[in-house]
Amino acid sequence: MARLLVLLLAGLPFAALSQDRYPVDWDRVEEEALGHFTALLRIDTTNPPGNETEVANYLRDALAAEGIDGRLYAMEPGRDNFVARLPGNGSKQPVLVMAHTDVVGVQRENWSVEPFDAVRRDGYIYGRGTLDDKDNVTAGLMLLTMLKRANVALDRDIIYLAEAGEEGTPEFGIDYMIDEHWDEIEAEYCLAEGGTTVARDGDVRYVSIATTEKFPMRVELLARGTAGHGSVPRVDNALAALATAVAKLSDWQPPMRLNDTTRTYFERLASISPEENAAHYLGLFDPDRSAASQRWLAEHEPQHNALLRTGVSPTILSGGFRRNVIPSDATAMLDVRALPDQDPEAFYADMAAVINDPNVELVRRPIYRPPGTPSPIDNEMFEVIEAVNQRMFPQAVTLPTMLTGATDMAQVRAQGIPCYGFGPIRDEQDMASGGGAHGDDERILEDSLLPLVQFLWYAVLGIAASP
Ligand SMILES: [Zn+2]
Repeated sequence: MARLLVLLLAGLPFAALSQDRYPVDWDRVEEEALGHFTALLRIDTTNPPGNETEVANYLRDALAAEGIDGRLYAMEPGRDNFVARLPGNGSKQPVLVMAHTDVVGVQRENWSVEPFDAVRRDGYIYGRGTLDDKDNVTAGLMLLTMLKRANVALDRDIIYLAEAGEEGTPEFGIDYMIDEHWDEIEAEYCLAEGGTTVARDGDVRYVSIATTEKFPMRVELLARGTAGHGSVPRVDNALAALATAVAKLSDWQPPMRLNDTTRTYFERLASISPEENAAHYLGLFDPDRSAASQRWLAEHEPQHNALLRTGVSPTILSGGFRRNVIPSDATAMLDVRALPDQDPEAFYADMAAVINDPNVELVRRPIYRPPGTPSPIDNEMFEVIEAVNQRMFPQAVTLPTMLTGATDMAQVRAQGIPCYGFGPIRDEQDMASGGGAHGDDERILEDSLLPLVQFLWYAVLGIAASP
């Protein structure tokens, strides 16, 4: 499928974009990218413990062979981050290309192949990290290699950051780099993971570009009551209080609040959706229909409902140890995913008001991803991204997207740097059958690695190549 698109691309007459001053042998690039990708997948960087240093060394050596000096930065041995920089003429601020080198663990028994062997099967490459995020690590590596070989004249420095610890331990990766080595990675724009290019029957329908994300707030409820014999019911039963509080929070719908990204997302999605779905996406903006459309999304499209508001999901309940003993306390864990501009204090206060029970305490856990402003969708970087998508997939729409999950882009955006997440082509049906990021049998379409490299190449040339 991607192969067809690539052929198509090669034959299209393009305006004299700066990109086209640097012709590329894409067959060779693909072969080389697949080689690096395979090697990177075979380095097990399951976090914990991470062992990202092995990948950092690989990248340093691969780029050193091209005459590019990179440096390793570690907060702890074994957890190295890697940074390489290609200098521009300094007339504009740098672009940061970022990808994380660690991966989440696997439940081996649920995989049909060895998760760290980069097995090729039926047009896919299987392996932990194929989608998250060694595809982007590879694209960044190829980008620097290609820029250097083609001796591209740049207005901006291109910074490549391959970072450790994204999967739950940003203290080793992005936090450490921001706190201790900010000078090395400071940029005007950042390109990273988190987007998806979605195809149906071989045709790309839309290109999702991550422009903002919700941030996790970890909250626990602690209900207290009087302990006693189960034969004597009490009005201050801790389990009952907890259950009531959880039920109230689950019934509660915080008000819908859209931002530039989600507004544009629903508008554009409507343009490629069946009539009924489209009517509900657009209904969100209509005061008379909004409530009904929100209800419809909550019932039919939970993923879209999650984009409308800060959401609360109870995930673990615990309390009690014996049938005939009333326990003195019980707890609930809540996974709260906040809109990017949510004021945490205000949300805690709202939750307490909804629970409205002095016997139920709201226990806050530290917030490890900061709130942040959504990245603009009307600046030069986003325009370049849209132009690249238009060029590569003329029939598709670009959807600025708010991720419900969390990435290291949150930290970078919180520094005031707009961040844009891109990603490989995925087949809609295959996506629905699992095999995604963090899933069993994580896999990538073999033919989608090259378009990923092409996207990054065109986007970086578009924003950084000297005219
Ligand atoms: Zn990731």
